[in-house]
Amino acid sequence: MKDLPAAGTNGSSLCTGIGVSPGIAIGPAYLYARIPFEVQQRAIDPDLVGAETARFEQAIRRAERDLHKIIAVTREKLGEGSASIFEAQLLMLRDEAMYPEVISCIEQKGINAGFAVQSVMSKHRQIMEASDSEYLRERSNDLLDIQDRIIRHLRRGRILSAVDEDSIVIAENLTAADIILFSRRGILGCATDFGGPTSHVSIMARALGVPAVVSTHGATAQVATGDLVILDGIRGELLVNPDEATLERYRVKQKRYKRLLQEDKQLVGLPAETLDGHPVLLQANLELKEEIPLMAENGAQGVGLFRTEMLLLMEGRAIVTEEEQTVEYTRVVEAVAPHTTTFRILDLGGDKLLPMGHREHNPFLGWRGIRILLDKPELLVPQLRAILRASAHGPTRILLPMITRLSEVRQFKQILAETMDTLATEGVPFDRTISVGVMVEVPSVALQADLFAAEVDFFSIGTNDLTQYVLAVDRGNDLVAEIYNELHPAVLELIRMTAEAAHNVGIPVSLCGELATNLRAVPVLLGLGVDSLSASPVYLPAMKRVIRAMKRSEGKALAARALASSDPEDFRRFMDRWLEEHACGVSFFLEGADG
Ligand code: PEP
Ligand code: MG
Repeated sequence: MKDLPAAGTNGSSLCTGIGVSPGIAIGPAYLYARIPFEVQQRAIDPDLVGAETARFEQAIRRAERDLHKIIAVTREKLGEGSASIFEAQLLMLRDEAMYPEVISCIEQKGINAGFAVQSVMSKHRQIMEASDSEYLRERSNDLLDIQDRIIRHLRRGRILSAVDEDSIVIAENLTAADIILFSRRGILGCATDFGGPTSHVSIMARALGVPAVVSTHGATAQVATGDLVILDGIRGELLVNPDEATLERYRVKQKRYKRLLQEDKQLVGLPAETLDGHPVLLQANLELKEEIPLMAENGAQGVGLFRTEMLLLMEGRAIVTEEEQTVEYTRVVEAVAPHTTTFRILDLGGDKLLPMGHREHNPFLGWRGIRILLDKPELLVPQLRAILRASAHGPTRILLPMITRLSEVRQFKQILAETMDTLATEGVPFDRTISVGVMVEVPSVALQADLFAAEVDFFSIGTNDLTQYVLAVDRGNDLVAEIYNELHPAVLELIRMTAEAAHNVGIPVSLCGELATNLRAVPVLLGLGVDSLSASPVYLPAMKRVIRAMKRSEGKALAARALASSDPEDFRRFMDRWLEEHACGVSFFLEGADG
């Protein structure tokens, strides 16, 4: 069993977790409960009753839209039998007993739509649960499902406006989309009970510069809305109701951290080059166009990974049109030129919700990335057309996610060629020589890297997934977070093989997993033959500090040591000492900043 948070004295307590987005935030907590959707009754001003029924109708329409998508996908993937469950739910939304009753409840009692939905549906559920008919008893769960769905749509805007700008959000779990919305609201930081360092909510928190701690094992049970909390995203700690001396200590830490970031900025104009003169390409991982200014601020030389799926999550819509995508991508390409932008085509599935709301038992081993795109040309082709159209405005590359088989690359290239032909016929300009690369994030690709290298233009190693697939450990599951070791020799050996295969045929190999931001790993990765590193822009200056303090020959020796290491703790300590001797100042990132 995992440790529970330690209760402190003076009503204060400490929750330890994993720091996934650096920074220190001090402020009032906001406890964000996603479930259960318990709604409080509110009186509605008589003038606003019409608006409240309209809000209910809008939530119903949104729920209908969700269910239509779910039905289509379920029917296609699982057959008519499974789809019928959702068809029944769809009918329940406007059930002639319930729908009018909710409306009249809002109108006659003058109460909020959420409470009306909850009370009407609970009443009907109780009747169904008490029924003799097994069929009806089973249907009562469906009613709960649709009640949650409607209330979720009703609450979305309301929850956001309840969160204060300068608060620290504490939740059991958050989605990447939640973080985007909260960060736009201006929160100071967030902590979750669950999650791992490479889950997408952590990646988004880093991208948006929101200090974050995950895997706190129960912060939500320790914190109440309004409690004063200190969130240390470097050390992975949440201090609840700290005493004045602790507060003062962390205020100083906060200043020191900000100062360190300022000092790192001095490296921005300097080349990322080892002491023995080997240049390393440092590129940015981007998710949102809002991050583009961070590239220049942190000295990124292009985009190594643009996760295009975040566009869909943000828009909250199933499909962003070709036109909309063209506008977005062109804006990015133009801003990044003369450097290159690498667009990874939609990597949906896994922990990134499918727009179709499809549910799987094992999503990371399921319908994900290229598998979805090859099944759904209506998603792939508009995106390809948009990327190609953007390629007329600056250097652009295409990156394929979740590749496991050569046939997927070939099938993709066939579709790319056809799409290019159509664009050419239409007289639309694009770059016909656009590079196509694959994510090396599944062991099969690393093991057959020589075969893939013969058919693609570049490799990008995705250690976030590679680690989970090599070690059979879910990247987002805090219970097994200790086994999730990106520096495991088995992972490093696959990186080495990939780099070797790439260099044998002269194609570049970059690494865009979160491992690139681990300062202990940077010299090892260069030693394994990785040519370029791509990471959230805020990390690039510190990575550059390490690169400028090492010789490539040292990297090779460290890589050999890492490959042979049987004790991760021992290697970690060794690298800490090495970094301490070679690159002053990094200890703050490694150890946190006590005192
Ligand atoms: C990876 O798997 O390492 C990667 C960069 O892709 P993502 O984190 O989006 O799965
Ligand atoms: Mg991945």
